[in-house]
Amino acid sequence: MLRIAIQAKGRLSEQSVSLFSEAGIQVAESKRKLVSRAEGFPLEVLYLRDDDIPQAVSMGVADVGIVGLNEVAEKGFSVEQIMELGFGGCRISLAVPKTVEYEGPEFFRGKRVATSYPNILARYFAERGIEADIHSIAGSVEIAPAVGMADAIFDIVSSGGTLVSNGLVEVEKVFYSEAVLIANPTLSEEKRAELNQLTFRFNSILGSRGMKYVLMNLPKERIEEAIRILPGMRSPTILPLAQEGWCSLHAVIAQNQLWERIEQLKAIGAEGILVLALENMIR
Ligand code: ATP
Ligand code: MG
Repeated sequence: MLRIAIQAKGRLSEQSVSLFSEAGIQVAESKRKLVSRAEGFPLEVLYLRDDDIPQAVSMGVADVGIVGLNEVAEKGFSVEQIMELGFGGCRISLAVPKTVEYEGPEFFRGKRVATSYPNILARYFAERGIEADIHSIAGSVEIAPAVGMADAIFDIVSSGGTLVSNGLVEVEKVFYSEAVLIANPTLSEEKRAELNQLTFRFNSILGSRGMKYVLMNLPKERIEEAIRILPGMRSPTILPLAQEGWCSLHAVIAQNQLWERIEQLKAIGAEGILVLALENMIR
């Protein structure tokens, strides 16, 4: 049975649990328990602080884990990155007080930079040959310049609102992160097989995101034109209708192309167009 570590409480916990639920696996949200047994899959769930997940997986306390790529990159433990999970997106950026003149990364030479991600930042500076003074602090990084602790910060940004309210501007976007599935590199064959089952389900869920299932009625003589409009998985499905000369056409269309395609289909005579949500796409 696989043991998976997920964040007990925080920005990734709810979406981790709902990804499982889409995959047909019931996982309780962490209450006071540290470990619980999932339903619908041979899985045990370990609820941890996100900081501890890379180490837990690397040590084999958990076989796999869901955690931000930022934590994986910062901690540097040896884990295998299995797949990106499509949530928890953010970036880690350098930001400076809006009153300073900023012309490029050379600005940071000899400056004090406060961060909770000293390793990622040290790598960034090393690649550019910049020597700076990295101050590692655990929380409230964004107030460090205002209280005189630092000249700049390196911190997670999602909307930028926190920066603005602390009089800071984002000047370098350094690291992009999202939630990832990681695994211990030495899993047994049996656990590897269970992990493959899990990633198969996750992949089919992620693969269907942003896709719609579209049905419509179409005059038979326009089928060739419709096929040219629709990229489809292979080709659209075409079913006969009781009414002579008409057929029903089914296709999968990416959300971002949906309206353009529908207008083209209407223009060649499509009627009764239905757009349905797609839950899973198994390739
Ligand atoms: P824990 O108590 O588990 O240590 P935490 O406070 O360190 O939690 P959260 O704030 O819950 O962590 O963030 C967890 C992860 O969510 C981050 O490591 C990052 O990958 C991702 N994330 C996405 N958007 C943001 C954001 N705006 N701020 C912080 N983290 C974000
Ligand atoms: Mg944390």
